Amino acid sequence: MSPGKRPNDRAAEKRRIETLLAQTPQPPLDRSSVWPYADSQPGPFAYQRYDHPLAAEVERVLGELEGGRALLFSCGMAAIAGIVLAFCKPGDIVAVPIGAYVSTRHLISDELSRFGLKLAEFDQTGPPPRDAALVWLEPCSNPMLSFPDLDASIAAAHERGARVAVDVTTLTPVLLRPLEHGADFSVHSATKLLGGHHDLVLGVASCARAEDAERLYQVRRLVGLIGSPDPAWLLLRSLKTLPLRVERSSAGALEIARRLEQHPAVERVHYPGLGDEIAAKYVTAFGPLLSFVVRGGAESAEKLESSLELIENATSFGGARTTIEARSRWEGERVPPGLLRLSVGLEDVEDLWHDLDRALTAL
Ligand code: PLP
Repeated sequence: MSPGKRPNDRAAEKRRIETLLAQTPQPPLDRSSVWPYADSQPGPFAYQRYDHPLAAEVERVLGELEGGRALLFSCGMAAIAGIVLAFCKPGDIVAVPIGAYVSTRHLISDELSRFGLKLAEFDQTGPPPRDAALVWLEPCSNPMLSFPDLDASIAAAHERGARVAVDVTTLTPVLLRPLEHGADFSVHSATKLLGGHHDLVLGVASCARAEDAERLYQVRRLVGLIGSPDPAWLLLRSLKTLPLRVERSSAGALEIARRLEQHPAVERVHYPGLGDEIAAKYVTAFGPLLSFVVRGGAESAEKLESSLELIENATSFGGARTTIEARSRWEGERVPPGLLRLSVGLEDVEDLWHDLDRALTAL
């Protein structure tokens, strides 16, 4: 992938991405924790906590896709924690968007604040805070689906000397490759769409600069944050079908979002595909995740999630199977009480709508 390409060039790049991913190699599952030296010299792999062949293959494919140096982590939070540990020092401010993934905020406010890091929450549809050392962005954020003006936010943060990490879990590099927009890091919970089948937990961070990748690698190696061979093998299998799954689930999500907007039991739908002009500058589809607010608050949201038959009530997203969850369970008053997060999977849209419409009408 050549750096500097704009998302609007995606049509021209599409074949490359799909070809690269469809031809992802499937090496044998090597579970070794240690590899013997030859003539007192370590080979490419020595100890599984440092590196292993399956991780190296995932990193090669995703690094090529994103135009940077990718590193595999045991989960998305391990990738996020690794970046903060590697690049922040006591007194630094980490800017995290309001309405973005809740644990990124908790990591700073509840844990790393003891080591002198400070959290600054901001509305990512506007400029990032001036004094941050690390700015986090999350296009199509989980669960409020806000979308930053990436180019402007990254340029503003860089002008003030901050590093920028972009969490693209809900979009994947098929739809958005933040390093092409000048971000320093692109971050994924591979547990979600990259894995895509609700059967693995992994994370990935890609670095624009080789020296940052080397620094992050040292932290991963010391702390032991690398993902294991078994889920890495499953991830390589999943990457082959990623573009198909992203395309289909995004189309399903757009259709469901449009129908939800018209439903009398629904107060509000959050999905950038419903006319977010900033988002449309950067992506041609908006991913499988949407959220909506039902009339009647938390009680209605919980009634809805438990009365669905086809749609699974579960906390993760990005799988082949559609999942739904009332988010005030985790986020309390920080989200509207009637907010439900829906991750549209690969099922037939009419079947999904039939299930949703029946449950909504019964509220
Ligand atoms: N980033 C986003 C946007 C997420 O939604 C999640 C998990 O839900 C994570 C990161 C963390 O990923 P993991 O659960 O793999 O640690």
